[in-house]
Amino acid sequence: MIQGEKNVEQPIRWAMIGGGRGSQIGYIHRSSALRDHNFELVAGAFDINPNRGKDFGVNLHVEPERCYAGYKEMFEKEAKREDGIQAVSIATPNGTHYEMTKAALYAGLHVICEKPLCFTVKEAIELEKLAKNKQLVVGITYGYAGHQMIEQARQMIENGELGDICIVNMQFAHGFHSAPVEAANASTKWRVDPKMAGPSYVLGDLGTHPLYLSKVMLPNFKIKKLMCTRQSFVKSRAPLEDNAYTIMEYENGAIGTVWSFCVNAGSMHGQKIRVIGSKASIEWWDEHPNQLRYEVQGKPAMILDRGMNYLYPEALADDRIGGGHPEGLFEAWSNLYTRFAKAIAAAERRDWREDLWYPGIEAGVEGVRWVENCVRSADNGAVWVEYQ
Ligand code: NAD
Repeated sequence: MIQGEKNVEQPIRWAMIGGGRGSQIGYIHRSSALRDHNFELVAGAFDINPNRGKDFGVNLHVEPERCYAGYKEMFEKEAKREDGIQAVSIATPNGTHYEMTKAALYAGLHVICEKPLCFTVKEAIELEKLAKNKQLVVGITYGYAGHQMIEQARQMIENGELGDICIVNMQFAHGFHSAPVEAANASTKWRVDPKMAGPSYVLGDLGTHPLYLSKVMLPNFKIKKLMCTRQSFVKSRAPLEDNAYTIMEYENGAIGTVWSFCVNAGSMHGQKIRVIGSKASIEWWDEHPNQLRYEVQGKPAMILDRGMNYLYPEALADDRIGGGHPEGLFEAWSNLYTRFAKAIAAAERRDWREDLWYPGIEAGVEGVRWVENCVRSADNGAVWVEYQ
């Protein structure tokens, strides 16, 4: 059980790029990084608008001279300080991630980057090589992976409780963009602009989340080929899609599907993963994240609850309050940030923790690779393509 006791010798000196006032995702980064005293927020280039960014940073108790107008200035000036930053989180629109991550790695910083890591596999591999050469950690915030019941699912599958897995059914299908809300919402506007969003909208923004959950639960599953169809029901979003269906064939013969959708009128989040085996199935839904449905063929369905002592110890290790009291996305993200901190502390000691899983640079590369393959299939007429 997590009690907030120290995981690192000293809190990691940490900065943010983006995540400024009014941003969607900035607060959960700060809340999760700061919760367990693993990180200390000492600097930032929080906003595309420097004055607003500075005002915001000061309100977060960052010293005024360490609230920078831009990330390049921040890296340069922090490098000259004895107490300069050691790690940076990037929470800006997608089109900036590649340049910022690259610059941070060249500046010798560990990076926690929002998904997608970048737009092309070529760029992703370049960043992966750079991070490895420099022995720096890159974490990707696939935040749902930090939920305790995802770890429980991973353990159940590893221990054969489901038998041989044949189907992995995934979806992230919310309804918030069922109308062209981007006309009046800056956080949505860039998501449908290929220059800032990249080659896809919902495939990258939504589909990669349950895809990463499947990677946690089924670490050895490798995609052999896939087929994808994508379309924009809100026509102004073309060429980017607001709906996509992907079917995947894994090397072991199992089949996976991912439905990525943001026009699902009435649906809140609609992120689900169902893993079906020869003996039993499990299903997890992010709107009820404390529970995992476990269905054994021929028996009544069971609902496993977070924090209960019938769970695997690996899952209970992530518990923060005991059964009954609900936990949520903030706790899941905090669990991930704790993993990032442990990985960074180990990297600083040159002691790579092979036992510690977290969405690292390989998860970033894989997300970009999956989107690239989906787009290649869809734009060639929804044909099967070998996974490259
Ligand atoms: P947003 O548009 O709401 O906020 C972006 C923030 O970045 C703003 O504060 C803006 O001023 C700042 N910014 C933009 N360019 C900047 C620059 N060059 N320098 C400094 N600051 C800059 O966006 P958002 O919805 O918070 O999304 C940000 C990123 O987080 C995206 O990559 C998105 O895909 C990702 N995201 C991830 C999750 C998740 O679950 N992991 C959820 C939502 C968003």
